Amino acid sequence: MSLIVQKFGGSSVADAESIKRVAKRIVDTRKAGNDVVVAVSAMGDTTDELIDLAHEVTPLPEPREMDMLLSSGERISMSLLAMAIKSMGYEARSFTGMQAGMITDAHHGAARIVDVTPVRIREALDDGAIAIVAGFQGFNVDTAEITTLGRGGSDTTAVALAAALGADVCEIYTDVDGIYTMDPRVVPLARKIDVITAEEMLELAASGAKVLYIRAVEFARRHGVTLRVRSSFNSNEGTLVINPKEGDTVEQPIVTGIATDLSEAKITIVGIPDVPGKAAQIFKIVAKTDANVDMIVQNVSAAATGLTDISFTLPKEQAQIVLQALRSEQEDVGFTALQHDDQIGKLALVGAGMRANSGVSAKLFEALYDNGINIDMISTSEIRISVVTRADTLEKAARAVHTAFGLDAESVAIVHAGTGR
Ligand code: ADP
Ligand code: ASP
Ligand code: MG
Repeated sequence: MSLIVQKFGGSSVADAESIKRVAKRIVDTRKAGNDVVVAVSAMGDTTDELIDLAHEVTPLPEPREMDMLLSSGERISMSLLAMAIKSMGYEARSFTGMQAGMITDAHHGAARIVDVTPVRIREALDDGAIAIVAGFQGFNVDTAEITTLGRGGSDTTAVALAAALGADVCEIYTDVDGIYTMDPRVVPLARKIDVITAEEMLELAASGAKVLYIRAVEFARRHGVTLRVRSSFNSNEGTLVINPKEGDTVEQPIVTGIATDLSEAKITIVGIPDVPGKAAQIFKIVAKTDANVDMIVQNVSAAATGLTDISFTLPKEQAQIVLQALRSEQEDVGFTALQHDDQIGKLALVGAGMRANSGVSAKLFEALYDNGINIDMISTSEIRISVVTRADTLEKAARAVHTAFGLDAESVAIVHAGTGR
């Protein structure tokens, strides 16, 4: 007998019919002789709708109340799913994150899992029941408060449960057939990937591919959880995310996939005295705001003035607070001006085979040039090259680069459901 953890995303449980369809799928897994633990997301776009509702009530909802509100979405789907399974004659029990033992830190809206004590889940399994756990939520012991894990966090719930229970596999069911070379909603000729390393998926997730939540991939990698991403709308095999051990031979294409991201803004600090210590001073100010700085580029200083510029990218919603912090220290740092650009787009090219191959950047830049797309910033890691372009050219850039690297499939990818919101 195997223990299988299955996670169903919002678009897979969007309405009563979908819940019944998913229930049948879970029961089939049980019938095949497996123990089943399910993590479920809120129905459809519930989380987005609850966020909109909160902002209609107040422009700045309190983080604690926001977690109380958003965690209710998953309670609806977990109980309905348990009811649907029971009506099919199988035992099922739903649990909130807290009841399932998802212990987190106290950070409302972006809590990290610090421990998982799934005592009640084990009891349910021992009683022959299917355990249904509300995704995306946890509990902090010190504050005795409900927390949420950040958008997309139900993936993390599933992986954490799989690790704590020693599950054989963690299956992530969604509205596309697996992990593709690029978001098939943006590049219809995206190709499904059969096997990908967690290392590559981590880079794709960090670069904006929301098919898996970055913290879930991190968790799976750290705890050696095998993930399979597949569609809840058919029985295709999906994509296996593996953690190869040292010495394992894995076929590593030069370029595995592309990710795009429209969620960042760029801040440029103009006219900084080019003397030692200025970058440290600036990024100390930025760090105090808790902003997540991504790319940083410093220009060569103009010989005549001895002044330089530094640009960096960060999540759009953090830009104002960082601008304010920098402005308040302008005199002390001695820069001339601040510029804010929220119309940027980031494209990342990822592939473990890049390590051993040169010429990837040249090919990328050429593909962009051939399509008249200007590059604003560049950054690289061992297995990734990222460029910043204008937001309105990003989709065109993704399609051009996808074709240039020979990633196009013969036919258009099928997106089963969801609004892509
Ligand atoms: P769920 O509600 O199941 O968690 P998400 O909307 O979070 O679903 O993630 C699935 C979506 O991720 C797909 O519909 C697709 O538009 C998007 N996506 C982004 N990048 C990729 C990729 N490389 N492969 C597959 N899907 C991707
Ligand atoms: N419902 C949450 C969200 O929409 C968590 C998730 O779906 O993974 O972000
Ligand atoms: Mg998701």
